[in-house]
Amino acid sequence: MVEFQNASRLKRIAIEEVDRLRDELIDLSLRIHANPELAFEEYKAVEWLTGALEARGFRVERGSCDLATAFRASFGRGNGPRIALLAEYDALAKLGHACGHNIMGTASVGAAIAVSKVMSNLDGEVLVIGTPAEEGGGGKAIMIERAAFADIDAAMIVHPGTKTRVVTRALASATIEVEFRGKSAHAASRPEDGVNALDAMILSYNNINALRQHIRRDARIHGIITSGGEAPNIVPSYASGRFFVRAEDDLYLDGLLEKVLDCFRGGEKASGARLTYHMPEARYAPLRNNMALAEAFGANLRELGVAVQPEDPNRASGSTDMGNVSQVVPAIHPSIGIAEETISTHSPEFATAAISESGHHGLLNAAKALAMTTIDLLTNAKLLAQMKEEFARK
Ligand SMILES: [Zn+2]
Ligand SMILES: [Zn+2]
Repeated sequence: MVEFQNASRLKRIAIEEVDRLRDELIDLSLRIHANPELAFEEYKAVEWLTGALEARGFRVERGSCDLATAFRASFGRGNGPRIALLAEYDALAKLGHACGHNIMGTASVGAAIAVSKVMSNLDGEVLVIGTPAEEGGGGKAIMIERAAFADIDAAMIVHPGTKTRVVTRALASATIEVEFRGKSAHAASRPEDGVNALDAMILSYNNINALRQHIRRDARIHGIITSGGEAPNIVPSYASGRFFVRAEDDLYLDGLLEKVLDCFRGGEKASGARLTYHMPEARYAPLRNNMALAEAFGANLRELGVAVQPEDPNRASGSTDMGNVSQVVPAIHPSIGIAEETISTHSPEFATAAISESGHHGLLNAAKALAMTTIDLLTNAKLLAQMKEEFARK
């Protein structure tokens, strides 16, 4: 490892490199934004992001973990730490890049290229791990099972938002898909022959509404009915729905899930329609912030002149599969402010913010702070040890 004092010189070089890359990074972000791709279909984004890395001498493996739109790109060698900057690049149905993932993938690629410029001074590796399907599908959870993070020392990703925060909160989350099967009949002439699957769903939905009064304030239950019959004069023989159940910790989530399932069992019992359910994807784990890493990242943001807001203990930002990563590797998932506070992510206004001047500004600052923190980890043995010791504590 080089002397700690050298770190600030290397950081200056990395910052200058991000500034040099400015136009290319903004162009990349705009292109991904203009070509929104859904979970596991992010082919163009992956081609463009990996193309930029390959052109800079990164070793690129596409389709890693047997996922067509996952990738792993690395630069550097030796016995030093392996620092992974994660990339997300999936969009939302109908809303496009309303979560700003066009900024996330691009910032990590910009940061990694900047670090590669000083890598000859360092022992270790900087990686970009491309992770598909954050908005549903749990790409990172699948990649963890396939050992994508087994040799990684730290993982970081920056999410755009309305506030700049180093420590963010994300809930454990489970998805339930529910189906009820009843029996169709003429709704007017032979209603006594029917078993109403839609009634089963609506009773269940109302059971959940009653349950909601008596759950912990951090928990969330929300869902939609995806199918509820064919015509008013046919007793619905089939109804289906998709629900998310979330809580701050896995233990509470386990208990809450059982109560939610009881709500559906109640609907089954009352209506006579048969219930089946399954959980189509891996659960999202709560986010575990590594405070040593967070402090280093915050110091770098402040050095860039970016104001950092304190953690808000009453506000979770939803859920992310970065939570799963944070359970297996020391990790952070900071947020960088790019939009007015009144604007919610997953809205058309946020999609606009993701390609605004302030979106570009956030992208470049995120890339710089990621690069600087990577350099910290590659030069400061004490920080690395602190981070690992904190993670081991649990
Ligand atoms: Zn989102
Ligand atoms: Zn997001």
